[in-house]
Amino acid sequence: PTVCTGAGLRSNDEFFDRSTAVIPGGVNSSIRAFRSVGGRPYIVARADGARVYDVEGTEYLDLVQSYGAVILGHAHPAITAAVTAAVADGTSYGAPTPREMKLAEAISSRVPSCEQVRFMNSGTEATSTAVRLARGYTGRDRVVIFHGNFHGATDALLAAGGSGVATLGLPGTAGVPDGAVAETMVVPYNEVPTLDESVACVIVEAVAANMGVVAPDPAFLAGLRAECDRVGAVLVFDEVITGFRLGTDGAQGAYGVTPDLTTYGKVIGGGLPVGAVGGRRELMETLSPLGPVFHAGTLSGNPLATAAGLAALDHLDDGTYDELRRRARRLADGLTAACAAAGFAAQFPVVGTLVGMVCGDVDTPTDFESAKRTDEAAYGRFFHAMLDQGVAMAPGAYEAIFVGLAHDDSVIDAITERAHAAAAAAVA
Ligand code: PMP
Repeated sequence: PTVCTGAGLRSNDEFFDRSTAVIPGGVNSSIRAFRSVGGRPYIVARADGARVYDVEGTEYLDLVQSYGAVILGHAHPAITAAVTAAVADGTSYGAPTPREMKLAEAISSRVPSCEQVRFMNSGTEATSTAVRLARGYTGRDRVVIFHGNFHGATDALLAAGGSGVATLGLPGTAGVPDGAVAETMVVPYNEVPTLDESVACVIVEAVAANMGVVAPDPAFLAGLRAECDRVGAVLVFDEVITGFRLGTDGAQGAYGVTPDLTTYGKVIGGGLPVGAVGGRRELMETLSPLGPVFHAGTLSGNPLATAAGLAALDHLDDGTYDELRRRARRLADGLTAACAAAGFAAQFPVVGTLVGMVCGDVDTPTDFESAKRTDEAAYGRFFHAMLDQGVAMAPGAYEAIFVGLAHDDSVIDAITERAHAAAAAAVA
């Protein structure tokens, strides 16, 4: 394969050093810097299916898959063809286009709760728009989020939570003023909070996939629905990861609970930048230009992203999700056996098509408090041992393992075979 290194540079380190001079930390999304696992990142030159290649030509079997954005695998021919056809017609116009209509129809026809859809360019934009929409619709300010859920880099949703208790208004990062999170309540995952009439919305990862992979209790999502109905709050499912990954109608279909609003990203853009908010017509029409809640975006509904998204959704149906569930189980079973054989304490929780990893001799997590008991240092050792074996996992102990349509059984079995050696090397 041709490796497009350019700039006369050859090694990962050369590229990373030069990037670090002009890009803070050398990365454009902080987790990519390997800070939590140690070491320095490989610099990707290209990717194909289940494989990524760094600038040195090293091949990795890839479980990152753009954090779930490329469910068909890297450089899938259908995505490449769709984007290539679209790009020749121009990359962005600042006017409505047929493809955004078709992608909205494709989502709406598959997800009954999404009578209307508004597009933007990232999951972060989707969650911030959903919060603004819910506040504008209800005329209320309070937002309820769950400890250990992640909704992107949105000020109001970057609130720190206390362990196992409900807390209000602590900025989760420098740069978020107290005022931005003063109306944000952080409550424990998998417990239905008691709400009151000050609550505009509850936003939840219906399956949590940013504290490892944590399944919702059977009564949790239905309880949230009932509690939101009781006080007139908007229920938002953040399906940026689970949307069109758990199944055609995402977590809401899998658990049979209907939110008022759903946020999307990742899969619906086929690996290009995208975000979306979907919901009931009457609620969605609160957005400008029909309603009072402002939303706009120069590149929103982008022709390339909508082309890629349409191609991706075209390849996904109930049969592909059955197959993805089978593969997720096969991979988790293989990794579990590999770690057990080496005496490396780890478990691989499976929720539908999603796989998580929990290191250490701990109970299966049900919330952030239990998720934090994972042995992060052990994850770092396993991560590096896998990388040495040519398997790329996410450089963080709380990320999901993304199995996609490019991970056929031969890839899965190669990964688990390499995991035997990696687990042996990672034993403390
Ligand atoms: N919500 C969830 C559940 C996510 O996992 C993420 C990112 N991984 C986001 C929102 C933010 O999406 P983006 O990175 O596209 O802004």
